[in-house]
Amino acid sequence: MNTETISAAFYRGDKTFVVEKAVAVPPVAGEATVRIAYCGICGTDMHVYHGNMDARVGANRIIGHEMSGVVEAIGEGVSNVAVGQKVVVRPLDHCGNCPACLSGYAHICHNLKFLGLDTDGAMQELWTVPSHTLHILPDDLRLDHAALIEPVAVACHDVRLSDLQAGENVVVIGGGPIGVLVAMVARDAGGNVVISEVNPNRLEIAQSLGFDTVNPIETDLVNFINERTENKGADVVFEVSGTQPGVDAMTAVAATRARIVMVAIHAQKPTIDLFRFFWRELKLIGARVYEPEDYEKAISIIGSGGIDADIVVTDVAPLSEIQAAFEALDTSPTAMKSLIKVGMGA
Ligand SMILES: [Zn+2]
Ligand SMILES: [Zn+2]
Repeated sequence: MNTETISAAFYRGDKTFVVEKAVAVPPVAGEATVRIAYCGICGTDMHVYHGNMDARVGANRIIGHEMSGVVEAIGEGVSNVAVGQKVVVRPLDHCGNCPACLSGYAHICHNLKFLGLDTDGAMQELWTVPSHTLHILPDDLRLDHAALIEPVAVACHDVRLSDLQAGENVVVIGGGPIGVLVAMVARDAGGNVVISEVNPNRLEIAQSLGFDTVNPIETDLVNFINERTENKGADVVFEVSGTQPGVDAMTAVAATRARIVMVAIHAQKPTIDLFRFFWRELKLIGARVYEPEDYEKAISIIGSGGIDADIVVTDVAPLSEIQAAFEALDTSPTAMKSLIKVGMGA
């Protein structure tokens, strides 16, 4: 692969993306270059668009990490992937020497680099990354569906850390893209799942995916869960809303010895009802990004149809229309997950 001219979308600050020609970066030793098929727009990408992450990403950054593609070229010494294989990137690069890395938790390295925020990302036709970040996909997996693997891996990590057992009662607080994926992975693991969400459009999507839902503005969530569980409460609660009412609900619906998984990133330190932790011997579990096994699990769930990808993906737009895609996702009440079609077909 020589210095090919490609299309790339640059975030230039002030809610603006510009699609320009750029020169592809060839892979050096230990790297691989991926021809990008699709790249989903993450909630984090929306934070970039809104200017909340300018200090971190700068004003000339190619963002994007929820991608799928095909290996185009490999650098010297790369043996874990071959040219022509379908792949996704686990967009984490770690330092290898900090206490987290040395304890086996490289995914939450103290010096973690998130590819597509701290480095250029996948909203370009050819993306060069460390080859250790690649996971190989089955040949028959659709590349549009594969763009959901990164957010599904988040959900797989959350559900794995919750230690959910088949038959347990689960409440997912917040029915946005990650909440819905957590709910689907929890259901796939045998959980009896209820989604709590206030947005009517999101409630409709959750219902179309076959979930029991509650709008806690209209229905008392605690009563609803108690009625379903003979006053026991939920065995596992996922807090995905990032709101104070969500944090209040997470302890209120929790059964004795329930596990509560904190998935959301809260803008302020919320107030947590520690009394309930004492009375019911609750456990609070932090869950951040994913580990390699969560990626493998996400690939197998998507490959087996355990995620209804065609309902979760509500829009697909070409790279040339990335600006309009972000604007639409920002304002459309019915949008769930938008994909950018960066390059090749499905
Ligand atoms: Zn993401
Ligand atoms: Zn480290």
